[in-house]
Amino acid sequence: MDINDLNKKFKNVKAEEILKYFFEKYGNKVALSSSFGVEDQVLTHMMLSLDKKMNIFTLDTARLHPQTYSVMDATNLKYGVKVNVFFPDTDDVEKLYQSQGINGFYESIQNRKACCFTRKIKPLQRALSSLDVWITGLRASQSITRQNLSLIEYDEVNKVIKVNPLLHWSEDEIWDFIKKYKVPYNSLHDEGFPSIGCAPCTRAVESGADVRSGRWWWENPEHKECGLHIK
Ligand code: SF4
Repeated sequence: MDINDLNKKFKNVKAEEILKYFFEKYGNKVALSSSFGVEDQVLTHMMLSLDKKMNIFTLDTARLHPQTYSVMDATNLKYGVKVNVFFPDTDDVEKLYQSQGINGFYESIQNRKACCFTRKIKPLQRALSSLDVWITGLRASQSITRQNLSLIEYDEVNKVIKVNPLLHWSEDEIWDFIKKYKVPYNSLHDEGFPSIGCAPCTRAVESGADVRSGRWWWENPEHKECGLHIK
């Protein structure tokens, strides 16, 4: 079935059913990339409720908030799993440090992208290299850079089918789910962080502000993707 047909097939289908379809068809070749943000926690709960063998992985950039490690731990304990972790290559991180110092990402977009490439994109490519289907927690209303996404896409760069089961969920629906099923979530969300990435590149935002406005706040909105999600 091609991507257009899949989008038609799943247009009004619940997220759980979409996950079930891909798991039954692709088994361990389908995985969720989780940053332990609230959307990813919804998907984690859905997936591990369907089957404990469903594959969930995270990218540990070594610059995460302590609260993110706490929710990682709480998630592993609650569901009796060990989410897979992909770390950056040691040599790459050492070279990055030599070229731009420890916080060089504040100095230019070029430096920031180099840091994201080393700490996120290369480990992501490694994670995706053995997969056919990449599940994400992207939602259209999160930012101007995400409004034209489709439920199901083909990622030409990574050669995987990319599935965004929560694309049309509202923030309220996400939180209702979290509360209903008592899903562990990152305590930074209670401190005004709607979107949580690396500690030095994420900050709290005013209530009602663009969800991604606390990420790389020193850059223009058009640049606010780390390269993990490119159309
Ligand atoms: S979000 Fe910041 S610290 Fe994390 S990889 Fe990108 S530039 Fe580096």
